[in-house]
Amino acid sequence: MTTVQRRRNETKPRTPKPIEAGRDETSDSRRDRRIVRLLADWFEENARLLPWRTTPRKPYPSLVSESMLQQTQVSRVLEKFGPFVDRFPSVEHLAAADEADVLAAWSGLGYYRRARLLHACAKAIVKQHGGTIPRSRKELEELPGIGRYTAGAVASIVFGEREAIVDGNVCRVLQRLEAKQGHAGDRNVTDWAWKRAEGLVALTSDRREMRAFNEGLMELGATVCVPGKPKCVECPLSKVCAAKAKGLQDTLPESKPGAARKRIYHDVVMVWREGKNGEQEFLLEKRRENGLWAGMWQPPARESTKRKKTGIDQLLAELKLGGAHVNAKTARRTLFQTTHRDVHFRVWVADGKACECGERRWVGAAGLDGIGMSNAHRGLILPRQEPIGGRDRGPTMRYSHAVALRDRHAGVQ
Ligand code: SF4
Repeated sequence: MTTVQRRRNETKPRTPKPIEAGRDETSDSRRDRRIVRLLADWFEENARLLPWRTTPRKPYPSLVSESMLQQTQVSRVLEKFGPFVDRFPSVEHLAAADEADVLAAWSGLGYYRRARLLHACAKAIVKQHGGTIPRSRKELEELPGIGRYTAGAVASIVFGEREAIVDGNVCRVLQRLEAKQGHAGDRNVTDWAWKRAEGLVALTSDRREMRAFNEGLMELGATVCVPGKPKCVECPLSKVCAAKAKGLQDTLPESKPGAARKRIYHDVVMVWREGKNGEQEFLLEKRRENGLWAGMWQPPARESTKRKKTGIDQLLAELKLGGAHVNAKTARRTLFQTTHRDVHFRVWVADGKACECGERRWVGAAGLDGIGMSNAHRGLILPRQEPIGGRDRGPTMRYSHAVALRDRHAGVQ
């Protein structure tokens, strides 16, 4: 007997929860009940095996994974989740950790504010709840960094509380399911999606179905009802989907009116030297504690909102890098894009043997994994097998090598 058959037999005699006071069992509500059942069954048969999807669900790994998954793809989270929970195996371990260690373990996931908030959340759980993650949405929402979505996800999926969840994926699925006009992120659409999700969750017949339905919504949005072109032929809801019936599945949700992207210019001097044991070392400085990549490490850089045309000599003076020897006067240019910003890098490579480098810190190639650093900067100073300097190597050649290395390491960053 398959899981679905077993489940249907188990749930047959149950009567669904009352839908809404004063509302009859209309064809609308029968359709809603069908949506719930189809999606829950589909999830139980098709859920991806993910390390945090244990039976039963554990609160701490779920909290960590929900935090990591916000605005980050599952494939990337899969690389970081295991090492993170190995390093901080409980709320208490995370609460007691240094922020620098938490940021280092988070490196590669981006949006480092989430790491700081998760850290603060762990501290609050230890202080206010004796290290036990609270089970109600209301209590969860009072913790740092826990919004309505994360609180609903943890309360419902881990603790079986009947709570709705709506994130970008869920909103898109619901909009298409009901052929609801409006662009993603619009406040009216989001409010509508929460109401719609709450109405559907109220129809689940038991905790098991409620969990499977909630996770099914998220899973469907991540794997089938994807942005752009949904895979309707694989969808368990294709027979009840209004967008599909009207041929609107590829056009909903409507595109957001384009927000102007912010441009930032980083003029970077990547200073290296050979350390005592022959290992290459890189000169790093800590970024300020707010804004983009707050508190992360980077090579010395000048940052501005307008492109500066000054040459390397002036840049070395501005960055107080007296004695650093730049081998080539031409900088390598590269662009890094975040969700809202275009970061234009101009990068020079300098031999730092004679560098008067101030308060900054030399870090060996092997030590780069242990510090908090953005993907953008990690891509600039990847560990190398041969010296970076050398008269016969122009910056273009050095950087094409760096890009090849970065691509090779892309899956593990
Ligand atoms: S039928 Fe297509 S558009 Fe509708 S919910 Fe399924 S995947 Fe999304």
